[in-house]
Amino acid sequence: MFDAILIDKDENGQTAKLTQLDENSLPEGDVTVRVAYSTLNYKDGLAITGKSPVVRKFPMVPGIDFSGVVEQSDHPDYRPGDKVVLNGWGVGETHWGGLAGMARVKGEWLVPLEPAFTLAQAMSIGTAGYTAMLCVMALERHGVTPESGPVLVTGAAGGVGSVATAVLSKLGYHVAAVTGRREETDYLTGLGAKEILDRAEFSEPGKPLAKERWAGAVDVAGGQVLANVCASLMYRGTVAACGLAAGMGLPATVAPFILRGVTLAGVDSVMCPREDRLEAWHRLARDLDPSILDGITESIALADVIPMAEKLLAGQVRGRVIVPIDETLG
Ligand code: NDP
Repeated sequence: MFDAILIDKDENGQTAKLTQLDENSLPEGDVTVRVAYSTLNYKDGLAITGKSPVVRKFPMVPGIDFSGVVEQSDHPDYRPGDKVVLNGWGVGETHWGGLAGMARVKGEWLVPLEPAFTLAQAMSIGTAGYTAMLCVMALERHGVTPESGPVLVTGAAGGVGSVATAVLSKLGYHVAAVTGRREETDYLTGLGAKEILDRAEFSEPGKPLAKERWAGAVDVAGGQVLANVCASLMYRGTVAACGLAAGMGLPATVAPFILRGVTLAGVDSVMCPREDRLEAWHRLARDLDPSILDGITESIALADVIPMAEKLLAGQVRGRVIVPIDETLG
């Protein structure tokens, strides 16, 4: 038996509770993993609270990522004792996820733990941090360099934003961090941000073409914020768009795209091909200073995950939330 968060649904709606599950109830898969750490991402918050239809099958163990140690494997790449990481692939949405003592998944979904990181550090980074690195890689693939000009990070005090700010700063970019929480100014400058901008500057409808300010941007907000970011990119600038914290809509015009050659680069971490995942984790090992991780990470017990989900969606959580499940695994 092992502890797990379980989401279920009946005629009265969706419920989430902490419970105990039997190993025999684990879903199909060729690798069984003892989970060391999981995390609470924005999407987990949506799944646990039921605020968006993230969960596609009930009952469901949430948790879109985990790190742990292989217990049993029928996959040629993994043996018992191997340290592994999982991000996405519908885990926590259509396949039982990481907020549990054990998980059974397809071996092809796993990546080996980068030797630079501990199992705990890999989850301090988690899906949010791995997505931040995919965003940085998207900017680079579109030719954005530190010499191109300043770059903008929205939702900077959140999980994706914190790691994007830290990585871009370490790579030598001049990072302008957008936040709705002015009180996090020291936190953001500590991660390397050179300018702190108020979210309110980006939240109201603006001109189709604003002053050219940013060579690149990482946007977690979507909605009006993303529209204003597109309008203020420099000629041939790129925004890596990965989130919807401000909304699903995009009330923009085509002006930045057709008059300034701006690129809107979409970033998805869930079905991202394996080569890009491996590259993102290698790059995190190289370009993220692991000493910042303690400062951006809050650790909570599995029993506190459900109330924390509400706080996360309310924008009251800074950086990353990690959930130790079995710290003895290393
Ligand atoms: P967090 O909750 O940690 O951070 C979100 C941040 O967005 C908040 O901390 C806040 O930052 C900012 N924010 C909140 N509300 C608004 C608003 N109305 N307008 C502008 N900014 C706002 O979430 P994550 O960092 O984990 O995820 C961020 C987004 O990226 C989410 O939408 C998530 O679903 C998405 N995502 C997408 C992935 C993909 O594969 N495409 C993978 C991972 C995440 P501040 O207080 O600094 O303003």
